Parts: sequence; C-alpha cells; structure tokens
Amino acid sequence: MSLQPSTHPAVDQYAKHINPAFVKLLGVFGYGRVFVRASGARLWDHEGREYLDFLAGFGAHNIGHNHPVLRDKMRAFLLDDVPNLVHVGPPVHAAELAEELCRRTGPLTSCLFSCTGSDAVEAALKLARAATGKKTLVYCQNGYHGLNLGTLSVDGVSRMRELFEPLLPACEQVPFGDIDALERVLSKRNAAAFLVEPIQAEGGMILPPSGYLRSARDLCRKHGTLLVLDEVQTGIGRTGTLFACEAEGFFPDVLVLGKALGGGMTAISATLTMPELQKRAFGTMERFDLHGSTYAGNSFSCRTASAVLSIVDEEKLVQASKTKGERLLQKMNARLSGHPLVRELRGRGLFVGIELGPTEKGGFLHRALPRVVEAVSKRIFGQWLAVRLLEAGVVAQPASQQWNVLKLEPPLTVTDADIDAVVDRLGVILDEYRDVGAIVRDATERLGKQAMGGWGFG
Ligand code: PMP
Repeated sequence: MSLQPSTHPAVDQYAKHINPAFVKLLGVFGYGRVFVRASGARLWDHEGREYLDFLAGFGAHNIGHNHPVLRDKMRAFLLDDVPNLVHVGPPVHAAELAEELCRRTGPLTSCLFSCTGSDAVEAALKLARAATGKKTLVYCQNGYHGLNLGTLSVDGVSRMRELFEPLLPACEQVPFGDIDALERVLSKRNAAAFLVEPIQAEGGMILPPSGYLRSARDLCRKHGTLLVLDEVQTGIGRTGTLFACEAEGFFPDVLVLGKALGGGMTAISATLTMPELQKRAFGTMERFDLHGSTYAGNSFSCRTASAVLSIVDEEKLVQASKTKGERLLQKMNARLSGHPLVRELRGRGLFVGIELGPTEKGGFLHRALPRVVEAVSKRIFGQWLAVRLLEAGVVAQPASQQWNVLKLEPPLTVTDADIDAVVDRLGVILDEYRDVGAIVRDATERLGKQAMGGWGFG
C-alpha cells in the first residue's frame, strides 16, 4: 500500500473552513486519508483502499458501520411522519427508550437524555449538586470526561484544561485506583459526587485494582457522596458486559452513557439514576426544567438508540465482546509479549491497549539516553505505529491523552479472522522495531520526505 497525494476536495475545504492545524498534522507523517465508505468493521478511502476499523469512531460504532437492521429502522422512521421535536407533551420515543434502557440498569430507573458524552457527564454533575445540596466534585487524575467547561473542570489532564482556566471551583483531584486517597478526600470534603471511569480510556487504557470501584461505592455511601460512573466509552457491551460496572456486580448512583448508544449514527447520551435522586434534584414544578436542551431526547435519536439496544441483544454482542476480546488479548500476548518495546498488553472485552516503550530489554540507546528514549517513545511511537498500521490497512489510534498506548476497540461484530489479521499486521510491523533508534530513523526519514513535499496530506 503506497502513499499517494490526495486530491479529494474535502481536504482543502476542511483545512480552509474547519481545522487547518488538524490537516497539517495529518501531513506531518503523511497520514492523510479521506474515508468515503463503511460497512461492518471495514472502511474504504476515496482511492479504494480497504481498512479494518479498530477505532470504531472512538468506540461509538459498537454494532459496526451501517448495520443493515439499524439502517432499515432509521429509514422506516424517516418515512413515518413522526414529529421529531415538539416540547409540549411527553415524547413517545424518548419514553420508550427510557423504559428499554431502565430495564437494563437495575435500580437506576430514571433517565435524562442529552446529545454528547460531555453533556451527559455535565448533567450528572448538576444532578449530584442539586440532589445532595453539596458542592465539591471529586474526580480522578488522568481521567477524561469531555471538553466543555463543566467537564474540563473534572478532567485530570492539564494539557486540555490550562488554556480555559479558571474552571469550576470546588473540584478535587485524587489518584485513580487509590482508595485511601479517596477516603481522605471524602472524609475531609463534604462532596456531592465522585466521578470516575471504570477503565480510564483516553488516559491510557488503565484498569483499576480489582475491587476498587466497589470499595469506592461503599466509601461514597458512608460519606453521602454520589458515585457517578462515566461509561460513555465502556458502556453498551464494550468491555464484555453491557456496562462495565456489572463485572463488579453493582450499579452506581449515577451511570453515564453516550457514544455507542446512538450506534455511531446519531448523537444521544443518557444520565441514569435512582428515582429518589431525580426527584430530589429536579422533581418539583420549580425545578423540572433546570436541565435539558433542544435536541435532547429527539425522536429520531431515541428510535435509533432503541434499535441499537435490540441489535446488541439479538446478535448477542455483549457475549461476542467478551469472547472476541479474550481472543484478541490472547493472540496479542502470544505474538507480542516479550517484545523489547512492548511494556504491557491489557484490557477487558474488545477494549484493549498496548503500552509501548522500552522495557529493560530496550537496548543500548535506552541505557545510554534513557530520557530521550522515553520522550521519543511517549510522543512518537504510538503515532508512528498508527501510521504504519494505516498503511497496512488498519485504523487504530493511541489514547488521546497517553500517546504511547495504542487502543484497539473494533466494532463488537468483528470476526475472528479480522482479529487475527490485525494481530498479524501488528506483529509484522513491530518486528521491524526492536529498539527506539529504528523508530527515530524511520520517523525522521518520513518527516524529511514530508517536509520536502510541503507536508502533503497523503
Ligand atoms: N467520557 C468518556 C469516558 C469519554 O471517553 C468521552 C469521549 N472520549 C467523553 C466522556 C466525552 O464524550 P463526547 O466526546 O461525546 O462529548
């Protein structure tokens, strides 16, 4: 697969009117592709090249691209003359979806719809303050919950926050996975909520110590703090259970869903809680409208989400995520563990990360220049591997806040053969790089070529 200069008009249009820096960045390594077709776990670019999609729209396309059943249901909805937005009566499709979701969420039988993951986390924070009458929001170092001002205030990654400060007051950070630190903060501060991801996704695919979430739940109960679990990325089967919290056998006080709820086709997210908390927060005629937005719970998105839930059930995609995830991890272990630049392979279900960087077997350069080698592997290695995978027909990306961790999260409909093919391609590429020097050499050569070509897109 060779790199060809792209001539698609979207490249210039996008650079001119939307995000020039992004297009430039794609040109740094010659990353550019314009994707024009998608089906199941496959994508095609405008030059007809085929790719296996192991990014799935950042974990939104859990049922695969353009699922035929979903497409038929969306088409039927559009031909049905249903009002999409009215706002002066209970919307039928929102009510139906809420009932279908709440059948799956144990004691959380009250549901608030939003459009994006960030909106739904924001809704959870407002709900926690309104329901408890408390102010402090406790969140985790390295956590990621979205990019609006409310969620930035509880994001544990300074690069994303600094330019926009000051953010919300009364937000306290604790290290992820450290139950003693949480106990210290909760006993000192009368906190409204503890917000946490069951697995830190953008922070580098980090699994907490076993039992952490359950202990956090117990601590929150003890201190009258609501446990808010952000399952925007882990929800809807991604980790081998419908929600990641089910693996620990409990539901939090507030559960946040997004991304895959809309099947990758429409923006819909949900904040689920117990009815008594909903009532305390928004359950009076003075308060019923303190949260909401125009498109939240629109009929089209709700109908789509209902169809997604039934496809997940009918095709047993939660079970598929578990067994295929085990296969992916086991194949990767067999092919990649022991590689001098692979530090760890970890994950749950079809939510897997490869932590890259020199191990003690990392070679002479690592021993001589450990800091340089660490910096190179942190900043370049993950992106370089993603570029090489792209050229080998695989779409994957490093975690957005931890670039030396490559994330693999394909649609849950992915086949065993696709999984084996991706592991094989990963293995072949990594065989070329037994030390960081080889990456620096190749990446620099490519940078030079791209610079000479004026940082061409493709
Ligand atoms: N929470 C988590 C755990 C996420 O992974 C993301 C998105 N990566 C968000 C919240 C924000 O969702 P959105 O981009 O839809 O606003």
